Amino acid sequence: MKLKSISFLLALLLTLPVIAQDKAQVIAHRGYWKCEGSAQNSIRSLERAEEIKVYGSEFDVHLTSDNVPVIFHDDKVNNLVIQETPYSTLKDIKLANGESIPTLREYLEAAKHTRHIKLIFELKAHATPERNREAARISVDLIREKKLQDRTEYISFNLDATKEFVRLEPKAAVYYLNGELSPKEVKALGITGIDYSVKVMQQQPQWFKEAKELGLKVNVWTVNDPAVAKEMIKQGADFITTDIPEEIQQLIKP
Ligand code: MG
Repeated sequence: MKLKSISFLLALLLTLPVIAQDKAQVIAHRGYWKCEGSAQNSIRSLERAEEIKVYGSEFDVHLTSDNVPVIFHDDKVNNLVIQETPYSTLKDIKLANGESIPTLREYLEAAKHTRHIKLIFELKAHATPERNREAARISVDLIREKKLQDRTEYISFNLDATKEFVRLEPKAAVYYLNGELSPKEVKALGITGIDYSVKVMQQQPQWFKEAKELGLKVNVWTVNDPAVAKEMIKQGADFITTDIPEEIQQLIKP
């Protein structure tokens, strides 16, 4: 082979990982739940997300009044405020697919049987700054106990919780959800990236470039329109969080 073609091949090989990195990744919002036998934030939704080989499965965590972390989206279930209710009162409530509301411990035990999927751990806001930090500490302790640090990324709308994750797990990916801080402000807090709504990113499209220049990652939620997903990917989104993970994966496939 001529030297010229060898160097061309070499140059091509060097660009391949860059191309791979530039591709957006898909995160299943509240797990993959729009399918048979699944439900939002169920253990099945985590297993289904692993089966379709998306990057990550997002889930929502609240602390009960007696400090049991449980997986559920809304603040209330059956008119009970989760954070003001002891776990014993919540434990028999069923999700749409018949599973009980998972505790974080049960959810992580199920995650130990999956191999690749990242756990996109959303800590919901709690009543006080102290309670937010306490919830972050209890969460991190359990992730460490289950040895899932390498597969867990933390996200929160609450800045106290977000900062506590950064303090406790400086090597972990931690993202801020609330949308009011610029990439520069996020970077100054040592946060890995912005995880903002489509609305925010459409209003502040310059934040894609700003984030990239600062070495921050960009995740956009909750993108359920393939045309909008295309637009976000074109702008440079690293991650798309969506309720239709299989459709968005099809968009990204070469
Ligand atoms: Mg969430």
